[in-house]
Amino acid sequence: MSGQIWLSPPDVGPLEESYLLAALRSGWVAPLGPEVDAFEREVARHVGVSHAVALSSGTAGLHLALLALGVGPGQLVVVPSLTFVATANAVVYTGAEPVFVDCDPATGNLDPVLLRQLLADLHREGRTAAAVVPVDLFGSCADYGRILPVCGEYGVPVVEDAAEALGANRSGRAAGSFGRAGVFSFNGNKIITTSGGGMLVSDDADLVARCRYLATQARRPVAHYEHTEVGYNYRLSNLLAAIGRAQLHRLDTMIERRRRLREHYAKLFAAQPGVRLLAEDDHEANYWLTTLVVDRKSAGWHAGALADHLAALQIETRPLWKPMHRQPAYAGARALLTGAADRIFADGLALPSGSAMNESQIGKVLDGIETFLGAR
Ligand SMILES: *Cc1c(COP(=O)(O)O)cnc(C)c1O
Repeated sequence: MSGQIWLSPPDVGPLEESYLLAALRSGWVAPLGPEVDAFEREVARHVGVSHAVALSSGTAGLHLALLALGVGPGQLVVVPSLTFVATANAVVYTGAEPVFVDCDPATGNLDPVLLRQLLADLHREGRTAAAVVPVDLFGSCADYGRILPVCGEYGVPVVEDAAEALGANRSGRAAGSFGRAGVFSFNGNKIITTSGGGMLVSDDADLVARCRYLATQARRPVAHYEHTEVGYNYRLSNLLAAIGRAQLHRLDTMIERRRRLREHYAKLFAAQPGVRLLAEDDHEANYWLTTLVVDRKSAGWHAGALADHLAALQIETRPLWKPMHRQPAYAGARALLTGAADRIFADGLALPSGSAMNESQIGKVLDGIETFLGAR
């Protein structure tokens, strides 16, 4: 661990320790308990929705949301190509097929114009999508002002993959609240972590009850173990929920720290030709990751060269998500593409964005970038 600066490591400390220890000492070790109930209430309140169900992962949340909407074999679900693989995998778990749509080059988020084109194409073919799953990429909400009307027109429900976006807003409305259901991830590198976990949120009480039931092995509410259908073991443990409550308490501070980091980066790259930040104009993001896109012709350098330079200084960066239509696992899937996701993948880089970075680490990263740019 010593000198290495990671991309987005967990930011946990004394508060998480005290919440976790209190939960352990309470005797509610596993599996469910009052910490889970409280964490659900607190996340729901934070997002401004009426219901939440704490889960073992964000992927589980996506899977359950799709199941609760009746998605299954023979159906199509629209997914942005530029995302983490979990969005597409959840579709496949239901037996449905993902259809990939390209992104808006400025933000990397689902392109609403292409979405309309795809839904119109499907309509002409006498088909319809069973759901659309927009992703709030790197903590910046998708363009719901345009996505929701298009989906409404074609009668297609929206499941919001807000795995990366807890605490972000769009036009004052919270990430996670835009679709029939929204899903957050509390994986280790996300904006808050429970070491592993997720949450599904919704205003639809029936949908949430259905997800909660499926997540608990579809156990009927009777004393003997009665199951009329096959469910899943997808609930979050009480101990992990305690960590999540402490993290949620600190969310605003952590967003503020990530926002400051992003401002440092923005300033550093402002005068660099051919270099831009993804979703640079979004002032309601949670700034989970600051991501660069470097046009190698006008910049005169490639994002990979900066990555190598920083790696030699023990500073971790990462390429952006490899688009789903480029993944061997999804080679046969239908896709509506413009090349935007390919370009972002070829020229993109995620910079260290963790909220636990101290001043000396921030200084080291900024100096490293300045040295790199100075030598161009
Ligand atoms: C992290 C992530 C997920 C999956 O969350 P897990 O908790 O790791 O299962 C889903 N979608 C996106 C876009 C993510 O970044």
